[in-house]
Parts: sequence; structure tokens; C-alpha cells
Amino acid sequence: MKYIAKSAFKQSNIMDKINKGCDGVEIQLLNPENEICLEKGYKIEKFLKDCNIVSIHTPLVAETDNNFNIETPCGKDGFIKSIELADKFSQFYGRRMNLVCHMDLSIKQQIELGIYEQTKEFLLENLEKYKNIDVNLENVTIRDMGVYDNVVLVKELNKENLWTTLDICHALMAQSATGHFTCEGKYENEYYEYETLEKAFEKNKDVCKWIHLNNATNEGEGYGVGKGHGSIFNPNNVNDVSTLLKALRFADSIGLEEICIEVREDNYLDSQNFLQTMNLCKALRNNEKEFKKFIA
Ligand SMILES: [Zn+2]
Repeated sequence: MKYIAKSAFKQSNIMDKINKGCDGVEIQLLNPENEICLEKGYKIEKFLKDCNIVSIHTPLVAETDNNFNIETPCGKDGFIKSIELADKFSQFYGRRMNLVCHMDLSIKQQIELGIYEQTKEFLLENLEKYKNIDVNLENVTIRDMGVYDNVVLVKELNKENLWTTLDICHALMAQSATGHFTCEGKYENEYYEYETLEKAFEKNKDVCKWIHLNNATNEGEGYGVGKGHGSIFNPNNVNDVSTLLKALRFADSIGLEEICIEVREDNYLDSQNFLQTMNLCKALRNNEKEFKKFIA
């Protein structure tokens, strides 16, 4: 298994994760046009060779753009800029590249707005144009989403370069009584207990290409940004270890060779959370017997 680290598109952040032993990086774009910040004298070619970018995450947006349902700051333009960047990386490395993005509106909302057909056409056009890019739609927990509308859309379009990203933290939040996380960072008290992690695996198993490995721990403050959202797996917590093992087994069962660790970091220049999660994954793999006691 290769461990991919999620990182900002900044040399210092990326190099910290490389130095901690990641096998590649998924870069999080804040703006699809933002340029990589390189130290003086450091050439972009040399940098890209050093850091092995395997995936790009398109930006998130708070405002809904009714022209397109993929979350980008500038609707279709943002998506196009992101996929163009993925294409450049793909050509530079001479291999396929992942593009991870969120759906902004549920299928139901899009049908009501009369834009679902446009969304599908737009996606199909780009999937056709960029056959070297795997577009992976991520599950979200916001607004009145069908929690796995991404799976529905991917199965409906049925293209060889359209897949899902299963975000473990979002899946955990989707089943939590207090975890309905809105874009505004509020928590709505809706109950999705039936959306278990097992169901998420079942729904995604035929269409999943990428996993965001992270945890959700509500310690009374909810799951908002900087709180229990994207937290680490505590090696001393039975539930956390059990969740992590389930995620790793799911990845194995669908033949994934890479897994993207997307935990919250307190210090991006010393990514201890990434390191701890990666080391726990390795320890679990090397000595699953010892951790068997954690499995419910
Ligand atoms: Zn994610």
C-alpha cells in the first residue's frame, strides 16, 4: 500500500510530508489558478520530480453556483482550470492523474433547478476530452444531499474515467445524529443512522478509485472545520482502530494500491498527524493479530 498525503500546493508543506515518508501527494487547490510557491532558485521541474503529485483536489466554495454542481469557486471555469492543471501533471509524469471534486447540489436539487442534464453533459464532455484523468466524485454530508448521490451519478454515466472518492470522515458524519455539517459550519440535528460505514463500502465497492482516510470525532463541539472533522485515529481508542482497519480492508478488497491520508494538521510544516496515521496503518498491517481485539 502506498500512502499519499494531502497537502496545500506549497513547496514547504509538500516537502515536509515527503520528508516524513509519504509516497506521493494530493494537492489541495485553494484557487485553481494559484501558483505553486517555490523557494528561490528551485526549478518547477526539479520540484515536481521530487514531490510526486498523484492527485489534485479542486477547491471548495461556500456559495452555490447554479450553473454547475461541482464545487469550485467559479463554477465550470474552476473545474476546467483544475482539470487542465491535472492534465499538465499527467503529461509531465507520463501517467494518469486523479482529480477529486465534490458535488455541490444533490441530484434532486439539480433536477428541480433544471440543470442536471447540463451537469452530466459537462462532465461527459470533459471526461471525453481528458481521458488521461480519472475524475473522482467525493461523498459529502452537506445540505440536503443524498449522501451518496456521487455514487448514483457515477453509475449513471458509467464512464471508464469517472469514479468515486470515499471520504471516511464524511461517511462517519453521515451516520451521526449530530454530524450534519453544513457549508456554513453549522450542525443540523438530522439523523442518518442507517448510513453506516458498511453501507458506504457496499455502495462504493464497484466504482471507488480513491479513499480519503480520516476520522470524525465529535467531542461536543461538532464536526466543523478545525474541530472533529478530519481528525486522526487514536491508537488507544477501540472504535478508531476498528474504523481504520475496516477502511484498510475495504481498500484491499477493491484492489486499491494507494490510500490518501487527509487528516487535519495543526502545523503544516511538521505534519505529525499524517505521520501518526501512516504509522498506525503500517503497524496494523504488520501485526493485525494484535489489533484483532479491536474488531467488534
Ligand atoms: Zn475528503
